[in-house]
Amino acid sequence: MLSIQKILVLIAIIWIIWTLFRLFDRRNKNLKDKNINLVKCAACGMWIDGEKCKNADCSKNL
Ligand SMILES: [Zn+2]
Repeated sequence: MLSIQKILVLIAIIWIIWTLFRLFDRRNKNLKDKNINLVKCAACGMWIDGEKCKNADCSKNL
């Protein structure tokens, strides 16, 4: 027979694993999103995360 204590410990272990998995999954998703959003600037070749180039010397900004 399982005691209440054993059940509580089991729940705690499952909760910890679930929390760690969720954190890892969210970090993976963030990394993936960053990679998808990065675009190489056609003018200077710098990696940017939007339409506007952040490179001050880029000819696109002139
Ligand atoms: Zn540029």
